Amino acid sequence: MKKDIQVAIDGPASSGKSTVAKIIAKKLGLIYCDTGAMYRSVTWAVLNRQIDLADTAAVARLARTIKISFQPGDPDQRVFVDAVEVTKPIREGAVSSHVSAVAAIPTVREAMTMQQRQIADQGGIVMDGRDIGTTVLPNADVKIFLVASAHERALRRYKENQIKGLDSKPLAEIEAAIKLRDQKDSTRKVSPLKKAADAVELDTTSLSIDQVVDRILNIIEKSR
Ligand code: C5P
Repeated sequence: MKKDIQVAIDGPASSGKSTVAKIIAKKLGLIYCDTGAMYRSVTWAVLNRQIDLADTAAVARLARTIKISFQPGDPDQRVFVDAVEVTKPIREGAVSSHVSAVAAIPTVREAMTMQQRQIADQGGIVMDGRDIGTTVLPNADVKIFLVASAHERALRRYKENQIKGLDSKPLAEIEAAIKLRDQKDSTRKVSPLKKAADAVELDTTSLSIDQVVDRILNIIEKSR
């Protein structure tokens, strides 16, 4: 396999991107970059410092100054904003409900895209997000677009929350929040959630994690 292969995995909230991207990176010995965690980290810092979300210049300034870093962890990769570990707080309700607004700020996206390309320059990578195949790594060797019904995605998030001991909102509420985030992510002006023309779409609604991983590994194998 090409040493510096780039695999872009995009798709809506809770479509299973991070889970499969992590497994594929591990199996192939590639770097894994969760770009959603980066937007979540900026959002966490905005809320933590009580910056007004409407003050887009201040939010972008913050996005440019904080250092977001990853460290290996089990089961989840650990995420840090400067020296503070934010692995758990970036998954909580307050961050989830504000992240789409932060991610819609063009200057925040510029700052994150730059950091994401720097990470990709370090070597072979599996990167997951919303705009990886379209904007961040338009020349990626393999582009996957994962989809699943909103109900199935809500169910997965609900079960995941329970396992992780996170706030367990009713299923219908989670589904409504996912639909709202999809809508915001797909309709924003800059780098909306969109399948790249050359991406392979995979509907994971009735597939297990292993089945999705196998299909993507096959696609990677064929791309060589
Ligand atoms: O992937 P995850 O659901 O953790 O991403 C959180 C949010 O970050 C998304 O709803 C979206 O608003 C934003 N995001 C983005 N571009 C990416 C990754 C995430 O706009 N590449």
